[in-house]
Amino acid sequence: MLAARGLRASFFVVGEALREHRALAERAHAEGHWIGNHTLTHPRPLGESGVEVREIEAAQAELRELAHPDRLFRPSGAGGDLAPGLLSSAAVESLTAGRFTCVLWNAVPGDWTDAGWVETALDQIAAQEWTLLVLHDVDGACADRLDEFLARVDAEIVQDFPPDCVPIARGAVTRPLDPYLR
Ligand SMILES: [Zn+2]
Repeated sequence: MLAARGLRASFFVVGEALREHRALAERAHAEGHWIGNHTLTHPRPLGESGVEVREIEAAQAELRELAHPDRLFRPSGAGGDLAPGLLSSAAVESLTAGRFTCVLWNAVPGDWTDAGWVETALDQIAAQEWTLLVLHDVDGACADRLDEFLARVDAEIVQDFPPDCVPIARGAVTRPLDPYLR
């Protein structure tokens, strides 16, 4: 559906799932989508897992040549909450030392749980200057209405991230992290 419209997105993949479905990720990479790290096992939320460093580093090792050069990383959250516990000081240490780029979000319309996610997403996009929209490529999530959403969205779709959603860029902390630390 993205290719049919000439669009490129980013896929943040869970390391364990990548072991089973690597061919899909390879295809996405070959078609110009950016591939990022979304932890090894998706602890919810990452910053309270106690194994953050391993989660980040083991998933990056799984990505190998698929990894974006900026070492894109999205922490696993709990239902999309940008809340304390999303990161931890150990996770931040690992991300800065490893020169990762931490990509957060500003719109999570709930595609995995609510068939009305399209209307929610359109409202979220209309309400802000630059939306970083998180959708889920898992069973029962965005696929059923993705094409309809793409037809209805009244905004330019770009692959880059709004700077406000990137608090760590190639290892440098560029935005306050306090809101995500407990
Ligand atoms: Zn997730």
